[in-house]
Amino acid sequence: MIQLYIPLNFLGVLYREIKQSLTDIEKMFRLLDRPQEVDDAPGAPALQVQGAAVVFDNVHFAYDAERPILHGVSFEIPAGRKVAVVGPSGSGKSTLARLLYRFYDIGSGSIRIDGQDIRQVTQDSLRRSIGIVPQDTVLFNDTVAYNIAYGRPGASQAEVEAAARAAHIHDFIASTPKGYDTVVGERGLKLSGGEKQRVAIARTLLKNPPLLIFDEATSALDSTNERAIQAELEAVGQNKTVLVIAHRLSTVVDAHEILVLEQGRVIERGRHDALLAQGGRYASMWKLQQSAD
Ligand code: ATP
Repeated sequence: MIQLYIPLNFLGVLYREIKQSLTDIEKMFRLLDRPQEVDDAPGAPALQVQGAAVVFDNVHFAYDAERPILHGVSFEIPAGRKVAVVGPSGSGKSTLARLLYRFYDIGSGSIRIDGQDIRQVTQDSLRRSIGIVPQDTVLFNDTVAYNIAYGRPGASQAEVEAAARAAHIHDFIASTPKGYDTVVGERGLKLSGGEKQRVAIARTLLKNPPLLIFDEATSALDSTNERAIQAELEAVGQNKTVLVIAHRLSTVVDAHEILVLEQGRVIERGRHDALLAQGGRYASMWKLQQSAD
């Protein structure tokens, strides 16, 4: 019986180990969410970034051929400006961000950065130029230092710390017994939503890309935390080209242009004041949020 038990027990441990690493790999893929069919064009050059002006030109897209998601979306983000996308859940906001990062190729139309079609440049150069602060940051089961330095592999400890200070997460890290060597993630120290976002901000600060995508968290942070993080994102986005997927309209008031997306179509667009005056969908969303606050 004992003879049988030991190998079974061993198998149990092995199974748990394998299952855990599979979970990690799954997370990685969800994080990268990278379909196999996106390849570099043969001999593709690196993206040459001037000011990182973005153009979406009549973009059509479907995850599955039978269910179109975007129906001819066009907009521009001039270099160094911020464009915000708002709209109901499922309207295609995050899809725009995924397409700009080229997780998927579009069906028709084009996406250009400084005049270069993103399908014609290397994915590596494209992704080095873009920083994403996602809705829900997935942290690696590794040290805080590793998780921040992931933004720019090879960064020095001093650079990691400077980024953490700027993202207002340094004091928290320093207060843990192992500091920057603290292991975080599923199998380590669990961080709150706000702390995870700050790690993502520190990562992005370290990467210092010319183009940023902020996918605002839908999950509620407490309002003090939320305002602080918004202020930090604001600071990170200074003089950069920014696409914001916004859930709180207070973050879009100063945007160069606001796009209201519904079922994959831009149904209203303009600056905050003009959209309010128009009295349409944006104006009613604004009223609704004001009364909810
Ligand atoms: P939210 O505000 O809830 O984040 P969203 O406007 O960002 O929503 P998207 O995530 O862009 O919406 O999703 C748009 C549509 O595409 C949804 O109907 C969604 O079900 C579908 N979709 C998203 N990801 C995939 C996928 N990987 N495969 C198939 N369909 C998907």
